[in-house]
Amino acid sequence: MVLAMLTVLSLAGCGKFTCDLCSQEKSGKKHTETVMGQKMTICNDCYKGLEDLADSLGF
Ligand SMILES: [Zn+2]
Repeated sequence: MVLAMLTVLSLAGCGKFTCDLCSQEKSGKKHTETVMGQKMTICNDCYKGLEDLADSLGF
């Protein structure tokens, strides 16, 4: 029972997700961004890339 609860907690906490930008399965920090009206799940690596892109574009 305790084990099952821990599993559920870890899944809710930092489970794996598929990044919408690089299409890779990632674990760790997950960013949810709305890009052009579409909700996207973005991994930390791509998120950093997006921030750099936004910086260079002057947003
Ligand atoms: Zn990614």
